Amino acid sequence: MTLFPDMVRTVLGESIIGRAQKAGHVSVECHNIRDFTTDKHRKTDDTPFGGGVGMVMTCQPIYDCFKSVKESIPEGNKTRVIYMSPKGTIFSHGVASRLAEYDNLIFLCGHYEGVDQRVIDEIVDEEISIGDYVVTGGEIPACIVIDAVSRLKDGVLSAKECYEGESVASGILEYPQYTKPREFMGREVPEVLLSGDHAKIDRWRLEQAVKITRERRPDMLLSHPEFEEMLKPKEKRKKRKKLDTGAAE
Ligand code: SAM
Repeated sequence: MTLFPDMVRTVLGESIIGRAQKAGHVSVECHNIRDFTTDKHRKTDDTPFGGGVGMVMTCQPIYDCFKSVKESIPEGNKTRVIYMSPKGTIFSHGVASRLAEYDNLIFLCGHYEGVDQRVIDEIVDEEISIGDYVVTGGEIPACIVIDAVSRLKDGVLSAKECYEGESVASGILEYPQYTKPREFMGREVPEVLLSGDHAKIDRWRLEQAVKITRERRPDMLLSHPEFEEMLKPKEKRKKRKKLDTGAAE
């Protein structure tokens, strides 16, 4: 639900999510809030009660838009209504995985100074923020969430392995990637990647992933000590039931 549906259509109509939509793995429908206003000048915002700068999006067109979207969703579908907002829970891989369990997600994109609180209280299940900064509207934030969630849906990427071993999803950051040519501006591809020895390559990738995570996100290693543990010689490893091996794909 947005005042600028073309922003969303354009972003999500391209590349992998665009192809996923054509193939029917996900479907993104944009509903123009302005189409639902009963105001004779097609207004969808007004000045804030209590004074202050800017305009606030009014309840009526948003609520009527929501009712129309809700009616189009088959009964029994698991649905979540999300308001994109700098006041929301910070978006993360964990939030994306949780949202990927729903059949339908309805996003409310705010603009200007935001949305009248009463319609948020009436229709919204949760608020999500893309980070501690403010952008001009909820459309780009919604595109980010839709992209991240769609990648987790069956068929969107060629295989689950495409996202399971990636930065953050695996629990730590990903190792560096290289492709052809073997040499660029005097910089060689690490020799081990050309060796054909897959055990050695896996070990190198794990070492690199741990190294970069230690440098940039030591907090992640605290939550996932198993990765550093895997690099220790067998006899020095702490006894654990099973080690997660997801980091190095
Ligand atoms: N006055 C609001 C405040 O201080 O919380 C900010 C309004 S912002 C200019 C307009 C709209 O952009 C918001 O209603 C929201 O939908 C969206 N938005 C801005 N920053 C965002 C963020 N970090 N995450 C998600 N949505 C955001």
